[in-house]
Amino acid sequence: MTAADTENDPPLTDASTPQSPVLPQRDDPVATVDASLLLTAHGGAATKLIDLLGGDARFVGGCVRDLVLGEFGQGDVDIATPLHPNTVTRRLTRAGWKTIPVGIEHGTVMAVAPESRGTFEITTLREDIETDGRHAKVRFTEDWRQDAARRDFTYNAMSVDRKGLLYDYFGGLEDLEAGHTRFVGNATERIAEDRLRILRAYRFHARFGLREWDGATARALAAQAPEMAALSGERIRQELAKIMVGPRVLDTLRTMAEHGVLAQVLPTQTAHRTRIDDFSLLDRLMTLEELHDQPGLWRRLAAVLHRDEARLQALAARFKISNRDREALLRLSTSVPAKTLNWALYLDGPDASLDRLLLDAAEMNTPASTDFVRQIQNFQPVQLPISGQDAIDLGVAPGPAVGQLIRRIEAWWVERDFQPTREQCLWELSHVINDEFDLSAS
Ligand code: ATP
Ligand code: MG
Repeated sequence: MTAADTENDPPLTDASTPQSPVLPQRDDPVATVDASLLLTAHGGAATKLIDLLGGDARFVGGCVRDLVLGEFGQGDVDIATPLHPNTVTRRLTRAGWKTIPVGIEHGTVMAVAPESRGTFEITTLREDIETDGRHAKVRFTEDWRQDAARRDFTYNAMSVDRKGLLYDYFGGLEDLEAGHTRFVGNATERIAEDRLRILRAYRFHARFGLREWDGATARALAAQAPEMAALSGERIRQELAKIMVGPRVLDTLRTMAEHGVLAQVLPTQTAHRTRIDDFSLLDRLMTLEELHDQPGLWRRLAAVLHRDEARLQALAARFKISNRDREALLRLSTSVPAKTLNWALYLDGPDASLDRLLLDAAEMNTPASTDFVRQIQNFQPVQLPISGQDAIDLGVAPGPAVGQLIRRIEAWWVERDFQPTREQCLWELSHVINDEFDLSAS
């Protein structure tokens, strides 16, 4: 770090706030790994970034865990540094990188490599000094172990430096190997600091857990489930979405239901049903997905809620999704009769139509029609080749009649699989006008 780099930065530690318990200062690497996959990420931009930040920047979090497992692919590459965010910003800007202060007060700077090679999140080492169940007040530090201590699970708290030296302060490697999802520190305390960690626990356990929850962690998760009500719908949606399309969904949802967590994140109350623990529709839907499509988030959620309209309404409100998405979600509560498949395709598009078709088949416990699936998958967006102006050009006076006429031609065109050309539509339009409109009156 040069003097010019740091002269205007606030000190990394704030002497007015009480010091947290002193942690052992041992900072030895526990293993050496081949970090070349991380260093070459985003066309080598990761190496440049580490060099710009100085030798003591490290890769942290999910990318390290995935590297150790041999599963690192296209995921995020997160980097931590003892440098103050202002210094990070200055160094990168000087080198022609773009920086976005996404959470500067929490020490996070988003860095965009030149020539759009990739985006990285760079976080200054920090410790949480105050928490309110979701947000933390942080203090920057130069202590890697402190930074690891505020991370959620032992296997998410490892870091790797440029030479491939792996730092693992809380036994993450061992837990990863044993498939043991363990909070860093005391589960009850760590959950109380941030209730979103409850959902994160199920998400990571679904991916890396090889054994049952240990009793203390399960009890801590269940005991604080009722406190999740205060979490924002958006954060719940993000974590739940990853659970819903991730591995071992059925088992994970069953455990979440048992622990009383599912009822906190999905609407349970309707006139007919009060519990969410029947995943048979989801089970059948997933079998159909294996044959026909990728895992689909919204249709899976609709299946968990048994396509109950009131619950889907409540879900849309809880997740604060846009009006357009809410309408799309509510449509999943109704089936698509075969003869209106074209209408569904035309109005809702292929994705939503496939969602409904698969949900229908799952509900009836029948295979999905491969003809229909093919029709949906081959569907290209279409547009009615005539407009109201054409009716006016044919002599119809502007007014409600124009809209009625166009809707009639549209229905005729949809029923003919969108095949009629503009000429054929105009021909049909002129016939309808001649047959049914007394043009002399208009
Ligand atoms: P994924 O590959 O699914 O993105 P990830 O581990 O990278 O997994 P992120 O949500 O991207 O997960 O978070 C990055 C890292 O930040 C985590 O590995 C963890 O160290 C830390 N982290 C994120 N959210 C929390 C949290 N709520 N509490 C504590 N640490 C967290
Ligand atoms: Mg990540």
